[in-house]
Amino acid sequence: MNFSDLELDDVLLQAVEQAGYKKPTVIQQLAIPPALEGKDVLASAATGTGKTAGFVLPALQHLLDYPRNRAANGVRILILSPTRELAEQTYKVAKQLSAFTEFNCAIITGGINYGKHKDISQGKVDILVATPGRLMEYIEEESFDCREIEWLVLDEADRMLDMGFGKTIAKIGEEARWRKQTLLFSATLEGKGVDSFAAQFLTAPILVEAESPRREKAKIIQWVHLSDDRNHKLQQLIWWLKQEDVKKAIVFVKTRERVAELCGQLNSADLPCAWLQGEMAQDKRQKAVKAFVSGYRNILVATDVAARGIDIDDVSHVFNYDMPRTADIYVHRIGRTGRAGKKGTAISFIEAHDVAVLGKVERYIKEKLVRRVIEGLEPKNKEARIPSKKAKPKTRKLLHKKQQAAKAKKRAKKSIKNLD
Ligand code: AMP
Repeated sequence: MNFSDLELDDVLLQAVEQAGYKKPTVIQQLAIPPALEGKDVLASAATGTGKTAGFVLPALQHLLDYPRNRAANGVRILILSPTRELAEQTYKVAKQLSAFTEFNCAIITGGINYGKHKDISQGKVDILVATPGRLMEYIEEESFDCREIEWLVLDEADRMLDMGFGKTIAKIGEEARWRKQTLLFSATLEGKGVDSFAAQFLTAPILVEAESPRREKAKIIQWVHLSDDRNHKLQQLIWWLKQEDVKKAIVFVKTRERVAELCGQLNSADLPCAWLQGEMAQDKRQKAVKAFVSGYRNILVATDVAARGIDIDDVSHVFNYDMPRTADIYVHRIGRTGRAGKKGTAISFIEAHDVAVLGKVERYIKEKLVRRVIEGLEPKNKEARIPSKKAKPKTRKLLHKKQQAAKAKKRAKKSIKNLD
């Protein structure tokens, strides 16, 4: 399928060409037609699948098909993003794809002074990208009006729920109740909250599933190194970071203390890195991201929370220096490499206490990950065994037997009493 088969206006095809997109990605092929038919869309698509253009293009087509009432000034398309970074990237895509139209795009996020946002409530904005928290502040102080919103797009709905935005989004949805269409995009539709979120917001949605995050393995090579202890793990990581094919690497650690510790250790090993942690001033954060994106630093050390919303195309390697708690976070982490058809490598360092979560990951992605050894840095210990789960049912059975025996004893006593 080509973009020209999608019934998009020439001004949009021109922008697509300028963006360098040759063919629509799977999610674009699946999501754009029902969105153009006026249907609500429930889409499962991780970052990297081209999902942003998957909702921005039909939104622009909608604006072209239904010109604005001249008297009206309000926002017509509202896109909610979980983080500032994602909002900024989405805003860029919206601007890029609307380059040959007269539509205005704007962005509202936290961390930006209020003055800058004033124009949005006063000017004529067609597409607004916003993070829920800051937008809600404007709605509450009545400086933003949702009445003219025609399309509501919830991007990365699962992340927004994880971040505790559920109630805020429900309120925004209520404020924008005159809208015609709602599109919900989520990396996974399997999470607990996404179901009820979809039921609450969408009407008879068309379900589209692009690339299931579970299938990320197709283009991402995944390897495991067994590590005896933290020092061994550090040596393995340093070895890797000195390999030539590691062009751009994200190293995930579990806490911000570990971010600082590891950055110090890498610096001492002549491996300067950029770093991100959850609570960080916005300017510092942007500086770190810029250093990494521009290639001034080719290593980024981050926690999961800090790395949320960062979308960088050419990450060659993801390192799980500390394993994540759950399998879906693992899939999310490794999805940061192997973007837009490029090859990616994800490497996990497994200490004895990580074997249980490694087991969970392997069950989740339905694949046993290949164990690799670095010459000269071989592990001394064998792979630890996953703790057995059989103990529980046994104790439960025993407990049940004991309870039954106690009950039988009681019954026997009662019947003796009755005989008396
Ligand atoms: P997204 O999943 O929206 O974050 O997009 C991931 C990357 O894919 C972005 O860098 C886009 O510029 C790129 N992209 C989106 N659509 C296409 C396409 N049809 N062909 C090639 N690249 C694309």
